Order: sequence, then structure tokens, then C-alpha cells
Amino acid sequence: MIGVAASDASKQAILISGVAGLFAGAMSMAVGEFVSVSSQRDAEQADIEVEKHELERQPHAELDELTLIYMQRGLDKELARRVAEQLSARDRLGAHLRDELGIDPHALARPLQAAWISALSFASFATVPIVALLVSPQSLRMPAIAGLSLVSLGALGALGARLGGAPTVRAALRVCVGGSLAMTVTAGIGKILGISMG
Ligand SMILES: [Zn+2]
Repeated sequence: MIGVAASDASKQAILISGVAGLFAGAMSMAVGEFVSVSSQRDAEQADIEVEKHELERQPHAELDELTLIYMQRGLDKELARRVAEQLSARDRLGAHLRDELGIDPHALARPLQAAWISALSFASFATVPIVALLVSPQSLRMPAIAGLSLVSLGALGALGARLGGAPTVRAALRVCVGGSLAMTVTAGIGKILGISMG
């Protein structure tokens, strides 16, 4: 939108670029997320198949393995053995997936859900510059789009860092610097193309 606005295009043209960018971005985020979470899910499924196979073919070695895992976590040998036996009696595959492979059998990767979530979150934040365009007078168009986008980028960066337990100010600054750089370059390209194409 910044690039199109810098080329002195009409409000309608900027709006179309914003809406097109919203859909294109949301869909490409969804596809990217779908592909990456699908391969994660494939890897999980492959691990589960291997584990099932091993449990059938060598149940004793697998029980020893589980016992060893609990000993490494601090239980003494006898207790580790009893824990391994009792958990195996209830849900043998589940115990191995959780404690050996670190896979929660009730929370396997969900590609479609991940795709929807990233498409929706992209789309909801992509409405910020569109709203900025709609409410601002022509003279303030560029600063309004850039400013509001930067504020929402900074908020997103801080939120992401907070959820991940990282320093929030640094993360917010990082996305703001990256965002400003991207907008400056795009504005420059829009300006040059706007002038050269009249
Ligand atoms: Zn195992």
C-alpha cells in the first residue's frame, strides 16, 4: 500500500492494493504454515509407526528402555521399573510416545488448524493499514498508513516476545526497524515507478 500510495495513485487504487495484499498474504501464510506443519505431522506419524512396530517386536527391550528413561529422570531402579510397568499396563504406546519421543498423543500437529490460524491472524492485522487509508485525509495518507502499521507491528513483536518469554522492547524495536526498512524501500520503488510511468 505504501508503494502504491507513493506513486500518487488514487485512493481506490491504494485500497485495491491493500485488499489484494490482505488476501494474497493470508493465503500464502496459510499455505506456508500448512506445508510446514504437515511435514511435522508426517514426522510424528512416522515416529509413532516405528514405535508401534518396536513395541510389538521387542516388548521386553522397550520396557527396559522406558525404565531407563525414568531412572535418568531421578527414580531409583525398582521404582522406575514399577512406574514403567504400571504406565505400560494402562497405555503402553502413549507412555513411550510421551516419555521417549516427547510426543503428546492428544496434541498431534494439526496442519489445517495451523493454516487457518495464520491466515486469520495475517488478515486481521492487514486490516490496520486499510483502515488507516479509509479514515485519513489525503495529505496524511502515507504517514497514517506507515504509523499505524508500525504501531501494530511493534505491538505484535512485543506480544510474541512476551508469549515466548523474551525481552519485549528489543523484539518490538526489531520488527519496527524491519518494517520501516521494508516501507522505505517499497515507497522508494513506488515513487520511482510513479514518476517514470507518469
Ligand atoms: Zn519405546
